Amino acid sequence: MKPKYKRVLLKLSGESLAGNEKHGIDFDTVLKFCEPVKKLVDMGVEVAIVVGGGNFWRGRSSGQMDRTRADHMGMLATVINALGVADALEQFDLQVRVQTAISMQQVAEPYIRNRAVRHLEKGRVVVFGCGTGNPFFSTDTAAALRAAEIEADIILKATMVDGVYDSDPKKNPDAKKFKTLTFQEVLNQNLGVMDSTAAAICKDNNIPIIVFSLDNPQNIVSAVCGEDIGTLVE
Ligand code: UDP
Repeated sequence: MKPKYKRVLLKLSGESLAGNEKHGIDFDTVLKFCEPVKKLVDMGVEVAIVVGGGNFWRGRSSGQMDRTRADHMGMLATVINALGVADALEQFDLQVRVQTAISMQQVAEPYIRNRAVRHLEKGRVVVFGCGTGNPFFSTDTAAALRAAEIEADIILKATMVDGVYDSDPKKNPDAKKFKTLTFQEVLNQNLGVMDSTAAAICKDNNIPIIVFSLDNPQNIVSAVCGEDIGTLVE
């Protein structure tokens, strides 16, 4: 298999890192997702990762809390995941750097775009924590923003469903899966690929996204090799 893309940004939701536990980190699951990343790096692909935090905390579900403070908590949750993913990647002998959008220099590097690009060029995997560093945003938006900044060729959005459907496939057995979509269609039809801020950044900067399932973690490699899996939005 030959890679179709040189530099990719992988978005891992917090939920996916919890495995069957639904909450917290299931490290065996994290290791399973990191094994294909090792394959990609060995193939010469540059890999950056944005992690979510929903397995610990989501600002918008915090109820009566002040939203900004709740979002700060959510961003800290992404750092726990970033460190877990970094550790798993290192267990595959990968060189890894964690960069956070909110400085915590005893724990990770601060986010510096040029430095992140330099790490990628040297074959290091860069894991981005703290999302965009701002409340009221999501880690999907962070994925779009970082992909634009580092000039990634594609965003790999690994999810719990195997693509984008016209309705919820868990509720509707007749739901139809899209092979390809445009960002305009995603925005107009309000399809649940990612939030509208993230979709708009991708649309304005011509960053394609492939949405696929992590049921088989090797899909990460298949997606980068241009195999026909999931849904391609461009
Ligand atoms: N968050 C934020 N700003 C960002 C990214 C994330 O405030 O730029 C907070 C927000 O509270 C969010 C939480 O971090 O609910 C976890 O991120 P997200 O919900 O995107 O994680 P995922 O659903 O991908 O696990």
